[in-house]
Amino acid sequence: MDVIVSLCKRRGFIFQSSEIYGGTGSCWDYGPLGVELRNNIKRVWWRDFVHQRDDMVGLDASILMHPMVWKASGHLDHFTDPTSCGKKGTIGEARKFNLMFKTFMGPVEEDASVTYLRPETAQGIFVNFDNVLQSTRRKLPFGIAQIGKAFRNEITPGNFIFRSREFEQMEIEFFVNPHDRVDGRPADEAWHDRWIAECQAWFTRYGLAAEHVKLHEHARDELAHYAKRTVDLLYEFPMGWSELMGIANRTDFDLKQHAKFSGKSLTWFDEERKEHLVPFVIEPSAGVDRALLAFLLDAYREEEVRGEKRVVLRFHPELAPIKIAVLPLLKKRPEIVATCHDLRHRLTRRWLTLYDDTAAIGRLYRRQDEVGTPYCVTVDVKTVGDPEKGETGDGKVTIRERDTMQQIRVPIADLATVFARLLDAGTAWSEVATAYPRAEG
Ligand code: ATP
Repeated sequence: MDVIVSLCKRRGFIFQSSEIYGGTGSCWDYGPLGVELRNNIKRVWWRDFVHQRDDMVGLDASILMHPMVWKASGHLDHFTDPTSCGKKGTIGEARKFNLMFKTFMGPVEEDASVTYLRPETAQGIFVNFDNVLQSTRRKLPFGIAQIGKAFRNEITPGNFIFRSREFEQMEIEFFVNPHDRVDGRPADEAWHDRWIAECQAWFTRYGLAAEHVKLHEHARDELAHYAKRTVDLLYEFPMGWSELMGIANRTDFDLKQHAKFSGKSLTWFDEERKEHLVPFVIEPSAGVDRALLAFLLDAYREEEVRGEKRVVLRFHPELAPIKIAVLPLLKKRPEIVATCHDLRHRLTRRWLTLYDDTAAIGRLYRRQDEVGTPYCVTVDVKTVGDPEKGETGDGKVTIRERDTMQQIRVPIADLATVFARLLDAGTAWSEVATAYPRAEG
């Protein structure tokens, strides 16, 4: 973990919040590369689970909600951790400590204006269930997805971004008709298993090694008061197997609670059975920051190349913060630099592309390896020729692949097609590279 923490700071992924003032307890700031990685994780999740499914819609609810939401959900009464508070070294009496951050709405700090920063995004979905149903005319089963910040006044935060006080969640509430049967079983149970499999497959698809991920079935005494069954996806973090995300069957608990406390009906009309029913809910709930930490840890490799240590982040190309780096072999040749800038400008419209000329080429490659950039494009003397000697260039550049370090020589005119295959279509490097001559490493 220390190695990752130091790399994150050195290369601009993650900084401690308010560091110049000594830091804020367990809050983290995402730097230039961190914000790209984080956005990529969220974008890919949203694309796969919202845009590419017919049974899902999105939502972005506000962080501050009516305080009754937290009474109904049980957070005011149950979202506590036992803590012991002591003064001058004596251990005080254990007491229950609510993990929600309290604040005041409006100018007067009085009991009537108390409100809370949401400790999970889920409740924003439940209270909007009827709004979404009425505005989209959905039939069960369907889901509502949301990505957003959540806040918990954790007593023992730590392990870098694994447990912090301000974090982000990617949550789905998937509503099913409990009277339906799917795969010969009650719909909620069948959908629960489907979601467990989908979530596990998603994390391995974007880079986590299958052997670093396992399921943990909550025992009866571990289950939350609302859950019929909960399965956690665990990742083998450096401190041991720990929760990456949870997938819970929350039954009809939340909708019934909000109906009871708000006095509004939160049901769905089953046309077939001609009855109003309260759907059951399957909730896959993942933390963006924990996912990011797991992707970072799994991508990290130290290798030996020609007697030297090479650090490489083998990110899935869709997650990599920078997709392409354009590098000049000689920065004192204006034609080379101009060609680089032109390429960067054109490529970055589709794939985040960076230009760097602050070191020799070997160093530049290593720097990109260390931040997980899958491809480097190098412009050299042969590309541009030598106008003074009347030599024209061949208009070809070198593409270097991060993991194999193989290099191929590709006409500039082909770059858009080559990168569309590699970065958009997911075509393997080995397949794309066979069409071009190898360049020397
Ligand atoms: P834990 O037992 O680790 O505190 P939890 O079971 O309370 O987690 P949930 O309430 O199920 O967590 O929240 C869903 C997901 O949100 C977690 O799996 C995790 O990825 C993320 N998450 C929860 N609390 C934090 C936190 N303090 N910091 C970072 N991520 C968090």
